[in-house]
Amino acid sequence: MSYVPLTSDRLIANVKQGINEIDVHQLKQQMDNGDTVVIDIREFDEYAQGTIAGSFYIPRGFLELRVENLAPRRDTPIALYCAGGVRSALGARSLQEMGYTNVASVAGGFNGWKNVGYSFEIPRVMTDDQRHRYSRHTIIPEVGEGGQLKLLDAKVLLIGAGGLGSPAAMYLAAAGVGTLGIVDFDVVDVSNLQRQILHHLNDVGRPKVESAADTIAALNTDVEVIAHRVLLRSDNALDIIKDYDVVINGSDNFPTRYLVNDACALLGKPLVDGSIFRFEGQLTVFDPAHDGPCYRCLYPDPPPPGEVPSCAEGGVLGVLPGIIGSLQASEAVKLILRVGEPLTGRLLLFDALDGRFRQVKVRKDPACPVCGENPTVTELIDYEQFCGIPQSDNGVAIEPIPALATA
Ligand code: ZN
Repeated sequence: MSYVPLTSDRLIANVKQGINEIDVHQLKQQMDNGDTVVIDIREFDEYAQGTIAGSFYIPRGFLELRVENLAPRRDTPIALYCAGGVRSALGARSLQEMGYTNVASVAGGFNGWKNVGYSFEIPRVMTDDQRHRYSRHTIIPEVGEGGQLKLLDAKVLLIGAGGLGSPAAMYLAAAGVGTLGIVDFDVVDVSNLQRQILHHLNDVGRPKVESAADTIAALNTDVEVIAHRVLLRSDNALDIIKDYDVVINGSDNFPTRYLVNDACALLGKPLVDGSIFRFEGQLTVFDPAHDGPCYRCLYPDPPPPGEVPSCAEGGVLGVLPGIIGSLQASEAVKLILRVGEPLTGRLLLFDALDGRFRQVKVRKDPACPVCGENPTVTELIDYEQFCGIPQSDNGVAIEPIPALATA
């Protein structure tokens, strides 16, 4: 008996005998019924020119490796399509070998679908530069290209471009969070440079929002920085915060801390709160919209003025905000991607001297004046007065403000 090599035509013919094929009309019907996982398995450049709305995309080379993410159960109805029905036939055979019992290959494929006039969409995809830049993200199954697009679409507001805001902004910008709002009224002082890595020596004297925007622009042009060079107050906070998905608090005083908490709670925005002092830092996520506690559940009332020293008075290890601010960025990314377990209801404490983390539960207070069952704070109040801080005529605090965190 002589050896007869299997030509590609013979191979395909054999494969097609052993699998189930459906035509594009049957595919349409199954998609309308909504019970089939439909997977486009073409190459990326084919997919980028048009795909069937409602289908998932896994290139053929990754089909077996990623199909379980979409269809963990082996009896899930799956339909595969390529351009014409050949590659999908090979893919279907392979899924059958993996134990999938209800796989079909779409005869005629995407071209057949298009030719009978069924609609398709041009998928939103990243540019080649973006695919390269974010490749260490997109290769993570929990992120993927879809997750990176979520980051690019996301809007994060940083309260303060100081110690905590600096590393948070740098990592969020590097991660490709598309819009970063920064609220800060200060100018850069040389004593900031010990920890506020957004700013450099030649920025001294410049508004921090401008210096921050330049640093971020030099890192990633995908990121739009919206500079809010204002003092956050009761009359502008809701208006500024409402446009963002996540807020990172790096504020350095109690009035702002309560103001940001109340505004985020009223707007239903998750707030990643952090604070630092000397060698100790802490962070948590306040998210009353998702059953989490808020800052007022933890501290209903501010401490008496002057009781808690500011970093200007007490000092802070320059590295510490790098750790806490980076953790804040990590929480923000998790919230955007909706992966993992956010620090909602947990306060994470870090002691740099011990080199130890610990965490404590933070419970939602049913009697909380902001997020409790019968809230008494339903709009923003005068926070300077609430914190017992004397005011000048324009509402700006004129006394040194007690602080947990440095700006
Ligand atoms: Zn609360």
